[in-house]
Amino acid sequence: MAGVDIGGTATRVVGWSAGRTVGDAVVSTSSLGQGEPARRVRELWHLVRSVVPAGSAVEAIGIGASGPIDPATGVILNWNTLPWFSGFDVPSLLRSVSGVPVVIENDAVAAAVGEHRVGAGKGARRMLLVTIGTGVGVAFIDGGYPYRGADGGHPEAGHIGVTAETSSCYCGTVGCWEQSASRTRLEAEIHSAGLSLSGTSVVSAAAAARVGDAAAAAAFAAHGGRVGRGLAVLESVYGPTLTVIGGSVSEYLDLLLPGVEESRARAPHFVTGEPIVAVRLGPLAGAIGAAVLAEEGSASPHN
Ligand SMILES: [Zn+2]
Repeated sequence: MAGVDIGGTATRVVGWSAGRTVGDAVVSTSSLGQGEPARRVRELWHLVRSVVPAGSAVEAIGIGASGPIDPATGVILNWNTLPWFSGFDVPSLLRSVSGVPVVIENDAVAAAVGEHRVGAGKGARRMLLVTIGTGVGVAFIDGGYPYRGADGGHPEAGHIGVTAETSSCYCGTVGCWEQSASRTRLEAEIHSAGLSLSGTSVVSAAAAARVGDAAAAAAFAAHGGRVGRGLAVLESVYGPTLTVIGGSVSEYLDLLLPGVEESRARAPHFVTGEPIVAVRLGPLAGAIGAAVLAEEGSASPHN
């Protein structure tokens, strides 16, 4: 099996066999997006081949992709952050070039399935997964199955309104959780906090916070507060028994939690208070989940 996680910034692939990763690779998504659609998909296939050990066959491929996916056609509809793979039939093209079944799913759902089957959420009855990276993705697993809307899609809950901020979101509304809780926002806040860091990145700020820099710790806690506002709403809606945080920001969950808990404490009657943990599969959660979906042969009209 192979799993592909096509994100707005990076694309990760894993080879998956007998419940474990047998190879993995990461490339920038824009580097795959050169030329005609058929060429982009061929590049994707080459990448898949590169992580499967020599002599092993690829039985099926699962794709987790950022953004909405047309449940009837499997076409990715994310021109905002994934223009290179939107608007054409990636599963069909990949099936033709590889000769194996291809399933496609939203990346947050793929990551949720991965964490639920072999990661931090193993066995959880009601698992909420929130990925925080370039954007904010949400998926919910109930009794082992992804929660879906009437159109088959997953909850686009990164766009619930949680703030009174008036800057508009690309989705067309204002006050979106994604605008206030994404890594992009965290980077902007760290930059504008004027912290004296050895570097300007989130990584440097986290290192400073972990050795006692109060201003850096405060910047993360403030971001945790913004993350927590949305988590509190989703907890009251879904009543999860476990919340798993993924995406690149999950590496800093320990620094965010003081702010997250402050936000949750504001809604004691609605928030379940169940544990919040980081993904166990790390950045590969989406790709592993996609491989698991391919293995299960489920969750897609494109089997
Ligand atoms: Zn929005």
